[in-house]
Amino acid sequence: MMSSEDEAILAALRMRMVEVQLRARGIEDERVLAAMARVPRHKFTDQRFRDQAYEDYPLPIGEEQTISQPFIVALMLELLAPEPDDQVLEVGTGSGYVTALLAELAAQVVSLERHAALAARSRELLAGMGYRNVNVITGDGSQGFPPSAPYEGILVSAASPGVPPALLEQLAEGGRMVIPIGPAESQQLQVIQMQDGQPKITLRELCRFVPLVPGSTT
Ligand code: SAH
Repeated sequence: MMSSEDEAILAALRMRMVEVQLRARGIEDERVLAAMARVPRHKFTDQRFRDQAYEDYPLPIGEEQTISQPFIVALMLELLAPEPDDQVLEVGTGSGYVTALLAELAAQVVSLERHAALAARSRELLAGMGYRNVNVITGDGSQGFPPSAPYEGILVSAASPGVPPALLEQLAEGGRMVIPIGPAESQQLQVIQMQDGQPKITLRELCRFVPLVPGSTT
């Protein structure tokens, strides 16, 4: 249990994260900034790293995976620009932090995670926090989730050498996908907008994510 004093300190650190790491570095979307000011990132990190939850780097979440750096999360959300009535797909639930942010910004979130243990933990955490518009599913995100397609937004939080064809097929006309493309050591964020049935690609920042691994655990 945390005291209300601890909660107040963490809230102050969260506000500082928004101002110093996000706004001062060029994140401008007020809906994204407000969501990141609201969602308690410390609930998504391991207890051991709680006092580092608002620092400017990724943290371990188990299964050799990480919760992404706040800045890259904000950048991806700004590029995705989900609307309040959008249906979005997330690939790589991990800690569930980005899932919570998407749940604040969009109408419905389907989130795929290949590690059954991470999916189960995040599903429980998000439900406990009161998010009713998220569906966390154990599965291979490179296949997408056809039953809820098409999606106005697709956010991929794991690195892929190319764009998985199934994800392109499930992107709605006018929809956007944000995905890190490239080899394991370094990737480039791509924004893919579906226009008249054709993907239009914009190359963005360099980044480094854990790899998108085919298949799922049970
Ligand atoms: N946004 C998450 C990022 C976690 S790291 C967070 O900030 O917590 C990326 C996640 O993608 C890992 O949890 C990893 O297990 C998952 N992943 C990797 N390949 C996948 C695949 N093919 N399908 C679904 N999830 C995958």
